[in-house]
Amino acid sequence: MLRYSRQLSLKVIGIEGQRKLREASIAIVGCGALGSHSAELLTRMGVGRLKLIDRDVVELENLHRQYYTEEHARNSHPKAIALAERLSKVNSEVEIGPVIADVNSRNVVSLITDVDIVVDGTDNFETRFLLNDACIKLGKPCVFGAAVETYGMVYPVLPSGPCLRDLMDSPPPPGSVPTCDVVGILPTVASMVSSQQITEVLKILLGKAETGKVLFFNPWERIFDEIKVAKRDDCPSCALSKFEYLSKEVKDAELCGRSSVHLSSRGPVDIRSLYQRLTSLQDLQDELRLKLSAYALYIKGRDFEMILFPDGRAIVKGADLNRAKSLYARYVGI
Ligand SMILES: [Zn+2]
Repeated sequence: MLRYSRQLSLKVIGIEGQRKLREASIAIVGCGALGSHSAELLTRMGVGRLKLIDRDVVELENLHRQYYTEEHARNSHPKAIALAERLSKVNSEVEIGPVIADVNSRNVVSLITDVDIVVDGTDNFETRFLLNDACIKLGKPCVFGAAVETYGMVYPVLPSGPCLRDLMDSPPPPGSVPTCDVVGILPTVASMVSSQQITEVLKILLGKAETGKVLFFNPWERIFDEIKVAKRDDCPSCALSKFEYLSKEVKDAELCGRSSVHLSSRGPVDIRSLYQRLTSLQDLQDELRLKLSAYALYIKGRDFEMILFPDGRAIVKGADLNRAKSLYARYVGI
């Protein structure tokens, strides 16, 4: 317990808090700025089990705020794997399970059913509303977080509510709220948000959760504020148990500001045999550069790059949605 001695001597944690942390299983959904820092904190603090869920790969533009390396970016390494590999060297006592997946209405319940608390590391409202429904339904606390430009928000939600839908009934329309791809993000804000999220996780574990309050801060302007949220009697999620986001259709998406597209799964793909098939086709030799890793097949053309995962999802860079679909049809089939 020497490694945790400075935590054990903390009045608010102590031996009891450390035991609860050690017994806890936490899912981090989205391993970008918020998620990778949350994972760093929980690993160092000695959480029992950490499930890291992310659909994306590391890019150079991530490194100013996300806890990855240049090598990860050079190799377009999947974030969940890159983070798990690095953190297992930080604290080998923590059981770390990486999952490369796009969290959607089809898989969200099974992905979080075996954890105690969910930490939101996503960057979009659609997934947050989905997590909200899944967590309320399964009776699991969720700590929401958001960071953009120079401000951030943290909102812990217990299954009894109030929940995300008491704060806002539905996701804001696309394009109506700033995203970090467009207005940027101050890295210090992201680490403040995730630090507060993990503080809230600890408080939930110790039975000291603060509910019905959004913590808002803008460290650049030195503004720290708390916004109260009242539970609505007609909240579809935490009051009426109507989990409409759990039956939403899974869609392809253009990734904001990156000229990249995320294609949802059309069914699993055997990436090893596809790699062999594509390398054997003589007329594709000049057209494509192919690389196979344990986690993905990288197909690089003259003006695009497709990263294909075994679950059938693909990230296509340098293409709009229609072109991405036709590239997928051409090289992968379907
Ligand atoms: Zn609610």
